[in-house]
Amino acid sequence: MKKPKFQAPTGMHDILPEEQKYFQKIYETVSDIVSFYGFKKIDTPILEEAELFSKGIGLSTDIVEKQMYTLKTKGGDFLALRPEFTAGIVRAYIEHGMFTLPQPLKLYTFGPVFRAERPQAGRYRQFHQFDLEVFGEGSAVIDAQIIQICYNILQDLKFKDVIVEVNSIGDSQCRPYYKKLLVNYLKSHQAALCTNCRRRLRESPLRVLDCKEEKCQRVVARAPQIIDHLCQECNNHFKEVLEFLDALELPYHLNPYLVRGLDYYTKTVFEIFEEDSLEEKHIALLGGGRFDMLVKLLGGKDTPVCGVAGGVERIIEGMRARAVRFPRSSSPQVFLAQIGTLAKRRSLKLFEDFRKAKIGMIESFGRDSLKAQLGRAQKSEVKYTLILGQKEALEETVIIRDMDTGRQRTVKLDKIVGEMKRKLKIKK
Ligand code: AMP
Repeated sequence: MKKPKFQAPTGMHDILPEEQKYFQKIYETVSDIVSFYGFKKIDTPILEEAELFSKGIGLSTDIVEKQMYTLKTKGGDFLALRPEFTAGIVRAYIEHGMFTLPQPLKLYTFGPVFRAERPQAGRYRQFHQFDLEVFGEGSAVIDAQIIQICYNILQDLKFKDVIVEVNSIGDSQCRPYYKKLLVNYLKSHQAALCTNCRRRLRESPLRVLDCKEEKCQRVVARAPQIIDHLCQECNNHFKEVLEFLDALELPYHLNPYLVRGLDYYTKTVFEIFEEDSLEEKHIALLGGGRFDMLVKLLGGKDTPVCGVAGGVERIIEGMRARAVRFPRSSSPQVFLAQIGTLAKRRSLKLFEDFRKAKIGMIESFGRDSLKAQLGRAQKSEVKYTLILGQKEALEETVIIRDMDTGRQRTVKLDKIVGEMKRKLKIKK
């Protein structure tokens, strides 16, 4: 087939009608679960000042350095399409003085984020995330609770074998010293590192730890590990997180090489994977951690925060692989077929009666042939078809056809809504 003149931009995609159910299911599941834990929804603009991200996420991170879509407005503002949610939510927290509300304050959101990544399978340039943030509580119990919530969301979406990878990357007390140790070690093995890591060594040495190149992993395997160099506070915090995870019986691995791509993390970092995808793909479903410095860095009061972002497309991939089913009741169960002008007129009114009664109905008012309409009803997999012909329209009746048995019965027009409610077991 000839390529159409216009296509969606590279790495961006349409969400077609048949895919919407996955997005809806994930959003409903997330909203249901997080509301139970006291989260409130927030929406922030898709565009923010670019500096918010360079300051918040870090100038030398891949996201800011290479992947941000930026634009200059006519008024001279330098804006960026959000590459993640956290910085925008922190900005809103400060701007609206949300530190005066009772803490911890739990916020969540959904929506598209944008990263100009190299296009490859499972990596998009516009993709969707859900995001949870808990402000104003430094205790490790929050870190564990967020991991528990993620686990519950995945369980509800029918993911069975998920595993949490967890690490601590320390704070401003202990990380600088560890960084020095790491840089000294890596410098002495520089020749054995990939070109990217030789650059990272200067700009963000911790990122060398999660390089996927085999030669780098060989060097990293003997590098000093941060958990051996945590200060007392970070060490206690990490121990507590693990104790809470044990108490919740959540399966986890300690991964001393997990650092995550962004500069703003302190203490806990974690990612959640499907267990069997760990070896081949190493693509996380969700990732998050604690960032106790970020609110202050962006101009607010010293406020601890812990959060997580889930990749909606990644989760959908997993749902498709395990053929998650959607209940049939969510689609309309009644088709309305009509023949003749008077019947069409009555049908328009009847269709409105069904809408008011909240009974899903499909019609094909543009068609006149009964055969074509019944064919469409068959394809729509409805349970019942209502047929309104010339005779029925005059007698003010309608035929109910059971699509499984082919049996038909005539009912008075003014009784049909009640009758269908009864048949479909819809409560009044
Ligand atoms: P991050 O904000 O990088 O921690 O990403 C959080 C989650 O978003 C990841 O665990 C992935 O599931 C998903 N994700 C990140 N980058 C992409 C991308 N380019 N395309 C699709 N999903 C992504």
